[in-house]
Amino acid sequence: MRALKGGSSRYSIFALARNALSYHENWQKAWRSPEPKPEYDVIIVGGGGHGLATAYYLASIHGIRNIAVIEKGWIGGGNTGRNTTIIRSNYLWDESAGIYEHALKLWEGLTQELNFNVMFSQRGVLTLAHSEHELKEMRRRVEAIRLNGIDSEVMTPAQIKKLVPIIDTSPTLRYPVMGGFIQKRGGTARHDAVAWGYARAADDLGVDIIQNCEVTGILREGGKVTGIETSRGTIKAKKVGCVTAGHSGVVAEMAGLHLPIDSRPLQALVSEPIKPCLDTVIMSNAVHMYISQSDKGELVFGAGVDSYNSYSQRGSVPTVEGLLAAGVELYPIISRLRVLRTWGGIVDTCPDASPIISKTSVDGLYFNCGWGTGGFKATPGSGHVFADLIARDEPNKIAAPFSLKRFETGYLIDEHGAAGVAH
Ligand SMILES: Cc1cc2nc3c(=O)[nH]c(=O)nc-3n(C[C@H](O)[C@H](O)[C@H](O)COP(=O)(O)OP(=O)(O)OC[C@H]3O[C@@H](n4cnc5c(N)ncnc54)[C@H](O)[C@@H]3O)c2cc1C
Repeated sequence: MRALKGGSSRYSIFALARNALSYHENWQKAWRSPEPKPEYDVIIVGGGGHGLATAYYLASIHGIRNIAVIEKGWIGGGNTGRNTTIIRSNYLWDESAGIYEHALKLWEGLTQELNFNVMFSQRGVLTLAHSEHELKEMRRRVEAIRLNGIDSEVMTPAQIKKLVPIIDTSPTLRYPVMGGFIQKRGGTARHDAVAWGYARAADDLGVDIIQNCEVTGILREGGKVTGIETSRGTIKAKKVGCVTAGHSGVVAEMAGLHLPIDSRPLQALVSEPIKPCLDTVIMSNAVHMYISQSDKGELVFGAGVDSYNSYSQRGSVPTVEGLLAAGVELYPIISRLRVLRTWGGIVDTCPDASPIISKTSVDGLYFNCGWGTGGFKATPGSGHVFADLIARDEPNKIAAPFSLKRFETGYLIDEHGAAGVAH
């Protein structure tokens, strides 16, 4: 196990006991709220999980300490705090297997690394097949995944029924369950905790986390980035990394760049809490719905993206209706539940449903975006390789295929099958 870098002295059983004596009123703040300095070595725009992870790894691995994370709202308030937390690495192509498996391995030690419980739960992620064709394609995908050394197993309807007693596997369904495949090392984590854990650990290493500060311009001179304009004034920087998910297109325009990204709403919802009845994550791409049960007992549901472009962080009613219709058919007990909350985020999708981790034509300006419907699972891996790119100004082997160059060379990484609907 690596040394505990993230404020290890502050969260421990002894700290818990000591603070209990003062009714838990004297806990130190998890991170500071500093005023922005006039200049930083590196500025990260966007305080989601990916931006905070980037800042943490820049400080912890590359020794760069004069860093600011600039967030227009509050940290984790974007897609990081709005997603349904599915984590898996069972993607089709080698390039995707590289980045998502790198992330999954980091997830496995993240709670210890950050000294913050991110509640990573390897409860398995099961994907259902609803037709012969889907099942055949799934078998092929399972082989490809296993060739990359990633765990993946095909399941029969009987095995699925045993694992998930609430599912209806009768052959008369509109979309019958013909089989599926599972990644047992996949699962879920607590999304807010990921943002808070990285924020606390980065702050501990001297990173300034500046919330309520919107970036409104990217300053350049002679083809090189020199800083940013913000709602709290100008801040100079030698390097700027943009990690703004659904707003990446908007931020890129500030530097005169045009990214091949669509921003669209993606919704999720939870039911009222019930007793434990589901201890795995189940995705069903053909009927556009997926389900898991949170630690609080709520059933967590998600759908595919809404079909129109928008920055509104809310989606349309027909998408939710379609998701619930499919849900009730597959899991009849749902019909008796009330919906507690619905919400949406803005997801940033590239034409090949793969992310961008890249330098740009502006020296010292980098983008990490395009994670679309499935970037939460990549958070530690994405931050890790993006920090490396910013520090060395060269992509490493894992990041290189995700460069913007692929849209010129045509070497796309088409993950629509694994990522277009699924998360
Ligand atoms: C409903 C839903 C369900 C999802 N389910 C899953 C899932 O199950 N599994 C999975 O892997 N992924 C899932 N995702 C996708 C995942 O949430 C994202 O890919 C991931 O969280 C992106 O993280 P991020 O840090 O890049 O972005 P964000 O968390 O969105 O952070 C970007 C930040 O940039 C800030 N920002 C934007 N513009 C500016 C500006 N001008 N100045 C300063 N700050 C700015 C925003 O306020 C925001 O906080 C889901 C997404 C949604 C919406």
